[in-house]
Amino acid sequence: MSYIVPAPDPVILPTSDGNEFPVRRVYLIGRNYAAHAREMGYDPDREPPFFFTKWPNTIVVGGGKIAYPPKTENYHFEAELVVALDKGGANINAANAQDLIYGYAVGLDMTRRDLQQQAKDMGRPWDYGKNVDQSCPVALLHPASEIGHPENGAVWLDQNGERKQDGDLNQLIWSVSEIISILSEHYTLAPGDIIFTGTPAGVGPVVPGDKLQVHVDGLTDLHVEIV
Ligand code: MN
Repeated sequence: MSYIVPAPDPVILPTSDGNEFPVRRVYLIGRNYAAHAREMGYDPDREPPFFFTKWPNTIVVGGGKIAYPPKTENYHFEAELVVALDKGGANINAANAQDLIYGYAVGLDMTRRDLQQQAKDMGRPWDYGKNVDQSCPVALLHPASEIGHPENGAVWLDQNGERKQDGDLNQLIWSVSEIISILSEHYTLAPGDIIFTGTPAGVGPVVPGDKLQVHVDGLTDLHVEIV
């Protein structure tokens, strides 16, 4: 017996203590900072959280060069805290949700904003806007056993050395524990799943040649160049 086509390589995030974290699924929450919800034209106080997904192979391990994708003229950066799970389950109580967390990393949820807006306008799925090749650069993963569970601290993004996004983890509308709890009502979470926790205000477009630096206090910065 042999495979008809080669089995896909697993996507593996290196960790700060020299281990490796294979990624199973990639979940992302929408509009989880009030100021970003407002800049997108929504009222942050009246919306329950919602999620979307990307293929694991949209991850670019460690950042570096990513290609400007086709079919867009408005490719946006979204700086985010990423949570990695080493345990799973369904209907997790928020009070117990931290038990599922392996660690944290800095990530980018790159978005074809024009195609996302078109999908919103037409009531269509977000996949063309969000689930884009190379749209999920993720930096080094830090275990919670080393850094704890960050609940405040700066989240910022510099584009060519100029500060564009500048938020704090204490501005999350839905906490990491609440995110895990609510998501686990809809999906049975499992070891290897990662969750992008939303972006602060200040999202904007990139062009080829741009250099992005993304920071969350206590974690390794993410560096990306658009080519
Ligand atoms: Mn996002």
